[in-house]
Amino acid sequence: MNEKVKCLIVGSGPAGYTAAIYAARANLSPVLYEGIQPGGQLTITTEIENFPGYPEGVSGFDMMEDLKKQAQRFGTDVRRGIVTDCDLSNKPYKVTIDSETEVETESLIICTGASAKYLGLPDEQKYNGKGVSACATCDGFFYRKKTVTVVGGGDSACEEALYLAGLASKVYLIVRKDYLRASQIMQDRVFNHPKIEVLLNTNTLGLFGEDVLEGGHFVRFAGQSEEEKFDLAIDGFFLAIGHTPNSAVFKHFLPTDENGYIKTIWGTTRTTIPGVFAAGDVADPNYRQAVVAAGSGCIAAIEAERYLNNTCL
Ligand code: NDP
Repeated sequence: MNEKVKCLIVGSGPAGYTAAIYAARANLSPVLYEGIQPGGQLTITTEIENFPGYPEGVSGFDMMEDLKKQAQRFGTDVRRGIVTDCDLSNKPYKVTIDSETEVETESLIICTGASAKYLGLPDEQKYNGKGVSACATCDGFFYRKKTVTVVGGGDSACEEALYLAGLASKVYLIVRKDYLRASQIMQDRVFNHPKIEVLLNTNTLGLFGEDVLEGGHFVRFAGQSEEEKFDLAIDGFFLAIGHTPNSAVFKHFLPTDENGYIKTIWGTTRTTIPGVFAAGDVADPNYRQAVVAAGSGCIAAIEAERYLNNTCL
């Protein structure tokens, strides 16, 4: 017989655990599946210094462990497992875990997050947390008065480059085409910033460094007659080439925007299906901050509680 639960939460970042804390305290007996990256994206950042309440900062790993303990303290059943399928066509909703376990649930809170895109170079893994980062807001502070590169030519890359330019002594923006895709206003700010140098038609070949990142190998006009390879001495290598929301498994039932973010009703975490909520980065193309995700997890749990008690859709 399939298991039946009142409130199923999938994903274990700040949104998932905050939803779990609130749902557990509301007597919804939540079951939370941790997903592909237990603890979410924060477990791979170095230190979090912008989450309110930690004046000395906190390691991402420690903060997620604390959130997990807090969720468990109030009775959340935290389990290992990944959602591999779902059927949201009828109530109770059916969610398949690891292709074998089916859970039926009266309400579902989707907090599966988003994953930053990487170039796919083996060196990105090697120097992850030692110079390579996909979040300038999280890690930029460690690069004060240092030299960094930002890869990408969209609004995120420009935003990250400008943010880093307020800290670092030099920022190279590595753009693979001969133009930036970013909005004109962001481009103007980047091109006019004295600390930012834009390198167009440029791709990254690899990274180097003894223990931590010391530099990168780049190529300009790859494969063309004017091809030129060069190295840059850098302390930080930031990726800003987009994020992929982890929504694929739900797409058949829930509308997403053109980039795959689950659409929610403005100002809420409600989706088009009553009793199904989406919180955190999987539904947030704009902010992607832990504190915002935690806030939306709280909203989702309150909305789930109201839905289950028939006090609101
Ligand atoms: P985008 O998809 O807009 O841009 C991604 C950038 O990364 C592009 O320049 C792309 O290059 C480049 N890129 C992708 N893959 C690679 C690769 N393998 N190697 C090198 N470069 C690569 O993503 P963003 O995250 O910048 O923006 C997402 C959405 O969010 C956009 O709609 C944006 O406008 C919006 N946004 C708005 C902000 C604001 O208004 N303040 C701030 C941040 C984002 P190419 O152009 O060659 O494809």
